[in-house]
Amino acid sequence: MVIDLEKCIGCHACAVACKAEWDVPADKGRNWVKRLGPSNTPHGLASTYYPGLCNHCDQPACVAVCPADPVAMTFTEAGTGKTKTMEVAATWKDPFDGTVQIDKERCLGCGACADACPYSARYVNPALGEDGKADKCTFCVERVAAGLEPACVQTCLAGARIFGDLNDPKSEVAKYVKKGAVKMESDAVKIGPNVRYFGNRRDLHLLTESSTPQVMPEASMRRIMMAKMLRPLTKKAGTKNGLLGILTG
Ligand code: SF4
Ligand code: SF4
Repeated sequence: MVIDLEKCIGCHACAVACKAEWDVPADKGRNWVKRLGPSNTPHGLASTYYPGLCNHCDQPACVAVCPADPVAMTFTEAGTGKTKTMEVAATWKDPFDGTVQIDKERCLGCGACADACPYSARYVNPALGEDGKADKCTFCVERVAAGLEPACVQTCLAGARIFGDLNDPKSEVAKYVKKGAVKMESDAVKIGPNVRYFGNRRDLHLLTESSTPQVMPEASMRRIMMAKMLRPLTKKAGTKNGLLGILTG
């Protein structure tokens, strides 16, 4: 997806559409719009919006930390029918369409993935299941499979959200990349985000300076390591979250 900052008018229609489509609690978000500035930048005064969502990263930090028991899953490439079987935890990156998804049935609700995401793109929905379930943008896979656009893209009257295949040189999103659309990365965080931002130098400077992806705080990292180490013990003891629940509580 590409976000065109030149077109975004900060109306929040995308965020509201997403909440309505996916029953997201009012105080949480699968996507968001933040007001940035006005602030001085080396290129002049900047004022813009930051429409954000999961970046469906190439090396997703969220996937690597999931302590749920891995199961074998077979993925199918749309169009060719080619398949690939992989062991995945409760969250994974699809080897064909590149999206990062969650199995809510197997999710433990521990929140390790939400802690690990440098973009704060995940949250645990307490209304789902006994212990809550992780949730985030799915790039509206079901809508896309049905030939529709993601809800946020369809709703944006300004045309600021553009959805397509970055690997297809003829796509609108690939053309934006050619024109200079950038990834939100920092020196500390380079995990291959697949959402690109297009805008003038001032606004892009403000966006990348104010919304730099953050490395996980050390406390969260320790909690995740402990959760992974203790998962076999809690499983053996027959508890669902067991010590993990205590650690994350
Ligand atoms: S943006 Fe966060 S939640 Fe989305 S794939 Fe990247 S690390 Fe995972
Ligand atoms: S909340 Fe825990 S179990 Fe669920 S997807 Fe995230 S890391 Fe995996």
